[in-house]
Amino acid sequence: MEKKQLYDLVIIGGGPAGATASIYAARAGLTSVILEQMNVGGEIVVTDRLDNYPGFPEGISGAEFGMLLQQQLESLNVPVESTQVESVSLDGDVKVINTSTGTYEGKTVLIATGTEPNLLGVEGETELLGRGVSYCATCDAAFFRGKTIGVVGGGDAALEETIFLSRFVDKVYLIHRRDEFRGCSWLQDKVLKIPNVEVLWNTTINKIEGEKKVSALEIRQDGTDRRLEAEGLFIYTGRLPKTGFLKGTDLELNDRGFIVTNGKMETSLAGVYAAGDVRNKYLRQVITAASDGATAATAAAQYIYA
Ligand code: NAP
Repeated sequence: MEKKQLYDLVIIGGGPAGATASIYAARAGLTSVILEQMNVGGEIVVTDRLDNYPGFPEGISGAEFGMLLQQQLESLNVPVESTQVESVSLDGDVKVINTSTGTYEGKTVLIATGTEPNLLGVEGETELLGRGVSYCATCDAAFFRGKTIGVVGGGDAALEETIFLSRFVDKVYLIHRRDEFRGCSWLQDKVLKIPNVEVLWNTTINKIEGEKKVSALEIRQDGTDRRLEAEGLFIYTGRLPKTGFLKGTDLELNDRGFIVTNGKMETSLAGVYAAGDVRNKYLRQVITAASDGATAATAAAQYIYA
């Protein structure tokens, strides 16, 4: 029987955190593999533009950034396996990662799985997904050309995607449950100046209406219920860490389910690291994810060579 390869570092997730870790691992002489269920670049690939990453004075499209990352990994011969991680065993000296296509073993593991959308949890949301309900403006904006839509949320994502969507649609209702945004002030300033964006403050959504596709939103504004004609709803109500595969492990999570790390990206288990949006941190950006990945791989190398 062929002997299973024992990698120095198994990286779960090929977004900016995982990809950067693999670059630093290669340079430190570690063998590594990236296990990724979608594509290298992760969420950034479906983000319209990356405007705040140093070295790109004009910004860069998310898709192009993902492609460049992919090229960089190819040039370093980092293997990227297209697979879904199902469960892990992280206690021993050899970490075992069970996936939909087989088992991987590593002396160390980096968890860089990022986050997934937090559902709004109203009637019509799952029933009309892909038929007017969307979590991805970059993927779906073109289907709403000339239409009236809603965007729900008040964070950076809702603001950023409202700006993007306003270029396609006739009108955007930006629906937020409070009377002030959570997102950063420069995005707020931009959104509030767009003529075809109307902010509905203190407003929640009771129900998304529609037979075959979205036709209206039932909303409650300042305590009064009313119906809003709209053919789409983009939901940006925050993100949840992707940690389902950690069930049954002793890895420490915070009260919101994010992985607890120290400044070296070490988790509560020896040889197990976490980087990027999935960990408990202050600022969730591509640059901080990349930074986490670099730190984690360097710490893993130190652990292995110690
Ligand atoms: P977020 O900052 O957690 O904002 C979520 C928003 O959704 C909040 O305004 C929240 O309202 C609202 N919300 C949550 N649950 C809701 C519900 N059930 N009904 C109605 N509204 C609800 O999430 P995010 O915007 O996805 O951002 C996530 C992280 O990524 C943040 O750290 C953000 O800075 C980062 N990010 C950065 C950029 C950028 O810098 N360009 C872009 C995207 C994301 P309340 O405000 O009332 O809580």
